[in-house]
Amino acid sequence: MSENLYTLIRSSIADPAKIFIETGDGRTFSYADTFALAERFAGLLVGLGVQPGDRVAVQVDKSAEALIFYLGVVAAGGVYLPLNVGYTLTELEYFIGDAEPRVVVCRPNAEKDLGPLATRLGVAHVLTLGGNGDGSLMEKAKSVPAGFAAVPRAADDLAAILYTSGTTGRSKGAMLTHHNLYSNAATLKDYWRFTRDDVLLHALPIFHTHGLFVASNVTLLAGASMIFLSKFDGDEVMKLLPRATSMMGVPTFYVRLLQSPALTKESVKHIRLFVSGSAPLLADTHKEWEARTGHRILERYGMTETNMNTSNPYDAERVAGTVGFPLPGVSVRITDPETGKPLAQGEIGMIEVKGPNVFKGYWRMPEKTAAEFRADGFFITGDLGKIDDRGYVHIVGRGKDLIITGGYNVYPKEVETEIDAMPGVIESAVIGVDHPDFGEGVTAVVVASKGHALDEAGVLKALDGRLAKFKLPKRVFFVDDLPRNTMGKVQKNLLRDQYKTLYKK
Ligand code: AMP
Repeated sequence: MSENLYTLIRSSIADPAKIFIETGDGRTFSYADTFALAERFAGLLVGLGVQPGDRVAVQVDKSAEALIFYLGVVAAGGVYLPLNVGYTLTELEYFIGDAEPRVVVCRPNAEKDLGPLATRLGVAHVLTLGGNGDGSLMEKAKSVPAGFAAVPRAADDLAAILYTSGTTGRSKGAMLTHHNLYSNAATLKDYWRFTRDDVLLHALPIFHTHGLFVASNVTLLAGASMIFLSKFDGDEVMKLLPRATSMMGVPTFYVRLLQSPALTKESVKHIRLFVSGSAPLLADTHKEWEARTGHRILERYGMTETNMNTSNPYDAERVAGTVGFPLPGVSVRITDPETGKPLAQGEIGMIEVKGPNVFKGYWRMPEKTAAEFRADGFFITGDLGKIDDRGYVHIVGRGKDLIITGGYNVYPKEVETEIDAMPGVIESAVIGVDHPDFGEGVTAVVVASKGHALDEAGVLKALDGRLAKFKLPKRVFFVDDLPRNTMGKVQKNLLRDQYKTLYKK
């Protein structure tokens, strides 16, 4: 039997007349419309020479058509390769050169520059897609008959390549199989109790695992509906929330919505589930959200390479500051980052995962792939964490963010938690900066609320006695905002860069 993700999704839909997508401007796509258009796209791609396993790269604005194109690529047996809309031409040169797609789809106004680049790199076809469904892709698809029979694919064949954000060295293409995507979506649908009665408010980008796979595949497998917004806009989300039953967001969504006076218990009466992930949700945000809305946000943990690994429970207690339990079928263990030996329960170490969700490897990087898997198949996530006595997984930061000062390990999260608890602090980021005596100097960057008279000496005084001396920041800086990427992650690499000469003699 074909394990093509598209075939599995299509065969699970009992009611093709049901609305799958409603866009922010009120356009609707039923499941029947969605499949008809996806199959036109697939027919077009195969007509353009796309063979099973060929990459189809896409850098377009978010739209219903763009999401349906993803289904079309998968139906055609191609490998979908979404690219962040923020990438520049120089960055695209690397991605296209590395992935060698047969087809590239870009925004209509990008064709002028991207077209020649793609042709030079050997791309056979460049098509365009605009945010309103305009462009040559739709034009060409119109003349292709619907009813394309999806290309049979095995569970282990590739469905997508997503490049990692590449904060350390070159960005790597994570190869995701049909079964990686299908199994994870099926697990999440059940774990989070999605049914055809759900309406998901979708305001995430669709070039990233969160908006593309978690949100969209779960909705598809449940046969549910989405209100599909081209971007996150707090006012628009507040306006539409009463019509939704669920929302998936990055922590920034929740922080911003808390600033809206319109956020009340009444405004989220119909919601059954708020999910957060892609970056740590501050325990304070979790608590404030509960106080304002009566809902406990369900936090989960995953990454491009692994899809979702852990989730707080649906029925049992959702614990602020944790990412919950390993999902069914997923094994999580904590190991010594140096030796790879499993650590005792409660100790902090490297989070390793294994399961049907874990990717096949990095595109054309066999050594990198080999270096990040243990001999028994566990993937070394690069995240540091621990499992508490109730089995909840806690993330304490990325391995590369670990600070080693005077030979001692400092987990930034521990220092950040202390600083964040001070009155007047909104949030903080603690980084290691090159230091002539200590190797790295612990350095804190703090966002304080307006009108608070916090200063460096005050923060240091408050920390004194609460943390071991070696963990105390050598310097504390105040900023208006921490630098974040589109998924809400604090970009510590930018901060490290900004302060890199701080302790130079
Ligand atoms: P990405 O591949 O862009 O999805 O980034 C994955 C990384 O985001 C993980 O390796 C974690 O470092 C981080 N991450 C994802 N979800 C969470 C979470 N709930 N809490 C803390 N960090 C998270």
